[in-house]
Amino acid sequence: MIPEDNPGLSRRKFIAKVSLVSTALAVPFQGLSFIKPPIMKDKTLYDAIIVGGSYSGLAAAMALGRALKQVLIIDNGKPCNAQTPYSHNFLTQDGNTPAGIAALAFTQVESYENVKFYNGLATTGRKTDDGFEIRLATGEAFRAGKLIFATGIRDIMPAIEGFAECWGISVIHCPYCHGYEVRGLRTGILANGEQAFDVVRLISNWTKDLTVFTNGKTSLSDEHSLALEEHQITIIEKEIQKLEHINGHINTIFFKDGTKSTLSALYAPRPFEPHSMIPETLGCELTEEGYIKTNALQETSVPGIYACGDNSTRMRTVANAVAMGTAAGMSASKKIILDQFQYTVSTKY
Ligand SMILES: Cc1cc2nc3c(=O)[nH]c(=O)nc-3n(C[C@H](O)[C@H](O)[C@H](O)COP(=O)(O)OP(=O)(O)OC[C@H]3O[C@@H](n4cnc5c(N)ncnc54)[C@H](O)[C@@H]3O)c2cc1C
Repeated sequence: MIPEDNPGLSRRKFIAKVSLVSTALAVPFQGLSFIKPPIMKDKTLYDAIIVGGSYSGLAAAMALGRALKQVLIIDNGKPCNAQTPYSHNFLTQDGNTPAGIAALAFTQVESYENVKFYNGLATTGRKTDDGFEIRLATGEAFRAGKLIFATGIRDIMPAIEGFAECWGISVIHCPYCHGYEVRGLRTGILANGEQAFDVVRLISNWTKDLTVFTNGKTSLSDEHSLALEEHQITIIEKEIQKLEHINGHINTIFFKDGTKSTLSALYAPRPFEPHSMIPETLGCELTEEGYIKTNALQETSVPGIYACGDNSTRMRTVANAVAMGTAAGMSASKKIILDQFQYTVSTKY
């Protein structure tokens, strides 16, 4: 992060520094912190404000920037994959660090002079006569004709000591992101009931050495329990006390009864909450699962507001976040362009 008290660090130097450090050491990153431009009293009516400047937001900005639109990206540097050492399954970027991918994206987007960056937390939004206003935690406010929310989601961590430290490193949620790297290893599934059974079926593709940890009484059906037994998969119902790990690499689960179990990876599906409540307060409809409802053009139920990336899909990958961001940027800019093209219908014909 660019320290607040060191705004002199140029963006390019910062990006070079982030890339270098992250590639060499694979340290967790806290997202890109954009330099605060001197726009404390910004009266501009932007064509679009993008809240969230990670993969999806930057992709939207690129499409809008290339369409010559005036864009402001507001981001507070907290992408969901910050702690994962390497990101996989995104063509051309497989095995790069999350920071490396973000830094490259940022470099490419910042070359469009009509795209401005602002480092801060957007807290509220409201409809205005000419579009929308987004207000920040600092009290500053920015206006735009269109809003794009690329705000992502926040995974809710359980109250298990060591869990959060291992998240994205050896405690994982997605086999397509990390399953190949832990294939064949002694692996746990931290889930219960039907969800546990579904996860086991999927993960059995990557490893057969599986144990289900229900962290309390099992709610698996008899049929599912029998099926697991047939696959020599043990169900452990003990309550978990803590995960022991070295720098996020899990090695042992300790139970409240004093016993323990060794393992090298743990799949743990987690509930989530929206990273930002602004779309909901502006009236955007949500799906039953809690995602922002969008159509194929990434339009929400509120005209002029778009959403893209993790906040509006179950298909949670960097590649998909980028694709959705591109679609949001293209459809928002196309709407602006077509609306601005003034014409009158001639009565001669
Ligand atoms: C642990 C983990 C590991 C993963 N590994 C992989 C992998 O290997 N491969 C893969 O393809 N995918 C992976 N993913 C999924 C991938 O990280 C996401 O799909 C992707 O980051 C979504 O991008 P996004 O732009 O929608 O959201 P995010 O990357 O989460 O970014 C959202 C941004 O919005 C900002 N923001 C939110 N609210 C506000 C606000 N009010 N004001 C200002 N800024 C705001 C946040 O600070 C953040 O920078 C992983 C996810 C997790 C959790």
